[in-house]
Amino acid sequence: AAPSYLVGLVGAGVGPSLTPPMHEREAAASGRRLIYRTIDITDLGLPAESVAELVPAARRLGFNGLNITHPCKQLVLPVLDGLTADAAAIGAVNTVVFDGGSAIGHNTDWSGFASSLARGLPHAPRDRVVLLGAGGAGAALAHALLVSGVRELAVADLDAERAGELAERVGRRFPDAAVGIGDAAAPDRLLAWAEGLVHATPVGMAHHPGIPVPPELLRPPLWVADAVYRPLRTELLRSAEQNGCPTLDGGGMAVFQAADAFGLFTGLIPDRGRMLAHFHSL
Ligand code: NAD
Repeated sequence: AAPSYLVGLVGAGVGPSLTPPMHEREAAASGRRLIYRTIDITDLGLPAESVAELVPAARRLGFNGLNITHPCKQLVLPVLDGLTADAAAIGAVNTVVFDGGSAIGHNTDWSGFASSLARGLPHAPRDRVVLLGAGGAGAALAHALLVSGVRELAVADLDAERAGELAERVGRRFPDAAVGIGDAAAPDRLLAWAEGLVHATPVGMAHHPGIPVPPELLRPPLWVADAVYRPLRTELLRSAEQNGCPTLDGGGMAVFQAADAFGLFTGLIPDRGRMLAHFHSL
């Protein structure tokens, strides 16, 4: 019989995640059985640090792997036996694969976004890009942007220290690019300079409505990509579209991080278009 797979998602408030149905449906469409369980530390009354016990427990229970999300993506690092070069560079893991006796950490957030950008904005100019938001998603996006050929990256965050740390870390890894700090309090100057804006703060999420920059600053030929995907059409993207800017929503990143993780868990090649269509039907 074809092998079956057992995987899970560890994080806080992961109950409503769309990742489980994406994996299960893609496996079924490939003629395989895959069960995807959420392991919600909030429901379990566990602290974020408990990821250090949940990962080895899942391995013993026969899981093929785990996705790891907020607030555990960095806390999981010490219990892993190895990291891919990209995950080590980003300093965060969203996918753990149990391979024989060992637990290897991967990061498919960055590769998911890189695929989404290549697919959704293939011709977007990449010389000068502003990244707004230097948290967990921002770190993966910065890596993806530099791998995708961005030459000058300005990292901006309300927390200037955080922006500085990320810019410094990324700059060291990509010495041919110019990576600096952007002033989050001066979006007019930043966006007058930039060809593209990549947004990775929580502003615009269903429970955090709003727009992170004044809409009148969103003017073509600026392109705008949002990491937020609930809702898909954020106020930022709506304003950018109304003004005529090319846009990219956060759905592609969410789907392609799942597609890349699915490939790692199962060894199968996912049908990325089918996963995207399924996501949009959820
Ligand atoms: P985080 O809390 O780790 O980081 C958010 C950062 O934004 C913080 O550094 C904070 O200081 C900064 N910030 C908040 N408001 C700001 C503002 N108005 N201007 C400038 N900076 C501001 O959060 P995260 O885990 O990085 O997630 C950020 C967003 O990315 C969330 O909306 C999340 O849903 C989204 N995300 C999407 C995907 C996907 O697959 N599409 C994956 C991961 C995260």
